[in-house]
Amino acid sequence: MEKIDILSLDLKELESALVEMGEKKFRAKQIFQWLHVKKVPDFDKMTDISIQLRERLKENFCINGLFVQKRLESCIDNTVKYLYRLSDGNFVETVLMEYSYGYSLCISTQVGCKMGCRFCASAIAGFVRNLTPSEMLLQIYETERNSGVKISGLVLMGIGEPLDNYDNVLKFLSLLSHKDGNNFSLRHVSLSTCGLVPKIYELAELKLGLTLCISLHSSDNSSRSEIMPVNRTYNIEALIEACKHYISATGRRITFEYAVMDNVNSAEKDADRLAELLRGINCHVNLIPVNKVKERKYTTARTAVAEFAKRLEKRGINATVRRTLGSDIEAACGQLRRDAHEQSE
Ligand code: SAH
Repeated sequence: MEKIDILSLDLKELESALVEMGEKKFRAKQIFQWLHVKKVPDFDKMTDISIQLRERLKENFCINGLFVQKRLESCIDNTVKYLYRLSDGNFVETVLMEYSYGYSLCISTQVGCKMGCRFCASAIAGFVRNLTPSEMLLQIYETERNSGVKISGLVLMGIGEPLDNYDNVLKFLSLLSHKDGNNFSLRHVSLSTCGLVPKIYELAELKLGLTLCISLHSSDNSSRSEIMPVNRTYNIEALIEACKHYISATGRRITFEYAVMDNVNSAEKDADRLAELLRGINCHVNLIPVNKVKERKYTTARTAVAEFAKRLEKRGINATVRRTLGSDIEAACGQLRRDAHEQSE
């Protein structure tokens, strides 16, 4: 019988599993705290649990682990990029970033990605599988253990499309924010999506405190469809409708991400169209210079982002320029995993 991944169980599931084993229900909370507060990697460290019960736990459950395959530290800023090996030998990337207000972690939600965005390195090595809730949690737990810092912000912007792994991502968020566990506030979580419209409606119903980020990157359907194939299924109009619904259902402001790319989306008419599209929407635009991916031709001229920001501001749209962190360690998502993949071929 395959052992159950105990770190992916919520408290209720753990209670039922223990009751089924003939154990007392209250043990579940003790074990849950060992796993999510003290974050022990081993049942033998659970010292207030009897040795007999620890043995029974080992027979039925396993505590999943992540292993540091590679750790790159930036010389420019304090960004650290981890390439983690999962228990089945697959790799994911996690990036630790330092800001004035604390440490923020960018985690992956899938091994690879199906979405095929043209400018993104994650699309190149293809899709393998979804991450489990425990594999998302462990990116936080392991990074805190390895770096010795406390993570206060979380962004779901690593490899993968979070809304394409909807159930596991939501379970991960509920485990992360559980008051008997890590008790992490969802106010400090940003979830980024390429625009899976039906899932945006589903998420709106949950009224979570997180910040929804939409990878928009273009205000024109034909160019967006070219760089982001998802636009052929859910076009800009459908996406903006979903965003308006999300804002009115949750009362939360949305962030639109826009990677400024030469000859694709950086002209004056692109800024005009974008301003028109977002007029009256409670949102904010995050402009990003494109990260160079060696297989791809996309570039951002040195002054293009600041110029685009100025154009948007002039048209009354709130825009900020994202600071580039870890540019010397290939901190753009998907680049390390793609290289590890190539080396093993
Ligand atoms: N699948 C999700 C989250 C992962 S990507 C999404 O699409 O939002 C996180 C962000 O990085 C997205 O906005 C994505 O469009 C952007 N991104 C991907 N590759 C990039 C690159 N080479 N340069 C700049 N931004 C990139």
